[in-house]
Amino acid sequence: MRSNLAARDVETLVHPYTNLAAFRETGPLVLERGHGVYVYDTDGRPYIEGMAGLWCTALGYSNEELVEAASEQLSRLPFTHLFSGRSHDPAIELAETLKELMPVPTSKVFFTSSGSEANDTQVKLLWYMNNALGRAAKKKIISHVKGYHGVTVATASMTGLPANHADWDLPLPGFLHAPCPHHYRGAEPGESEAAFSARLAGELDALILREGPETVAAFFVEPVMGAGGAIVPPAGYFEAIQPVLERHDVRLVADEVICGFGRLGTWFGSESLGIRPHTLSFAKAVTSGYLPLGGVSIDEPLYRAMLAESAKIGTFGHGTTYSGHPVACAVALKTIEIFRRDRIVEGVGAKAPHFQARLSGLADHPLVGEARGIGLIGGLEIVADKGSKRQYDPKAGVAARCVAFAQAEGLIVRFLAGDRIAICPPLVITSEEIDALFDRLTRALDRTLAWIAAEGLE
Ligand code: PMP
Repeated sequence: MRSNLAARDVETLVHPYTNLAAFRETGPLVLERGHGVYVYDTDGRPYIEGMAGLWCTALGYSNEELVEAASEQLSRLPFTHLFSGRSHDPAIELAETLKELMPVPTSKVFFTSSGSEANDTQVKLLWYMNNALGRAAKKKIISHVKGYHGVTVATASMTGLPANHADWDLPLPGFLHAPCPHHYRGAEPGESEAAFSARLAGELDALILREGPETVAAFFVEPVMGAGGAIVPPAGYFEAIQPVLERHDVRLVADEVICGFGRLGTWFGSESLGIRPHTLSFAKAVTSGYLPLGGVSIDEPLYRAMLAESAKIGTFGHGTTYSGHPVACAVALKTIEIFRRDRIVEGVGAKAPHFQARLSGLADHPLVGEARGIGLIGGLEIVADKGSKRQYDPKAGVAARCVAFAQAEGLIVRFLAGDRIAICPPLVITSEEIDALFDRLTRALDRTLAWIAAEGLE
């Protein structure tokens, strides 16, 4: 029964992150299958998946080896858990593999099913650790304005976007936000990237001192801020903030949910941007998005604290049914095997200059205030006036309109709050496909410009 899917959808589904009222008019884009970097709708129309789904389908859409890995594990042992000392070989092997790969001192790995759960676990482990260490007051969590860390109660509190706070009674007390490291929007006129970084490090220092360092547990950062607008922090930013955190004994957590597994041309974003975190969170591309899996690295001091704290009550009271799901772990192992064999990360490094050159080329378009990126991720900021950086009235929905034009041109990209557009294709994209992506995006921008003129927007 595949007929009339769009109408049935509107009657039955609530869609995440969707304008619920507008959706009743527009209906869904129902996708049916995928191949390489292309997805196809129910009418057979192809689209370049310029967002790798939601920043995750690194190996594209028709990877038979991933399908076989899932199928083999499904037949052999579709489910067992990791509670109470139960285990299975895919989880053990994946934890070993990740320990080798992750650019942080890692003693153990804890698995989750999503990025939100991974970051939520990080928060809980920080609280648990500081209780074990007798530092009961050291519990506050800092993250960036416009940072994105998830949607659970704790991680939505960390996420620094208005849609995740207003009307949700969030953030919870104890979740603080540091200024967004976005040079284009945040710098004073004439302020260099290095000077801007130094100023933000000073503001972070002041925030920690104001709160009391004995009350601040950790700072969560994305290497490149994804959902906030594909924002690459300015030169020297992480070098400037890390000494501040060290001085106040505030742990640094890298949220590698988007940047992990090759996106920036290194296995993890931290390696590209000089971040030395205590722990990191991963999800998404670890399975190339084929199955839900996330997790966190645990360093030795944290593990020691967990041992001590759990001994008090006799159990480590945290975990979900699907922590380390065997089929998801099997697909992750195969994903990493393919990454290594096919030199996917090196491939990103080789393709990035072309991708970034085409992205920078869009900065000449009258609507584009800033075109920014690194590796195979990029963002555009739409402005009404390039000189003053003035934006259109958010109600006009200019970036959303541009994304709709892109879809009509056979390209899927994503609009983000603040009239921003994100581009994050599968890592297996070819040079010709990169050209096709940017040609379509250019046509979408041109159509948007014509629409703005027709509507008389200012
Ligand atoms: N952290 C980052 C950086 C993310 O981009 C996302 C999701 N886009 C999350 C956490 C949350 O992951 P999930 O949607 O899997 O819960």
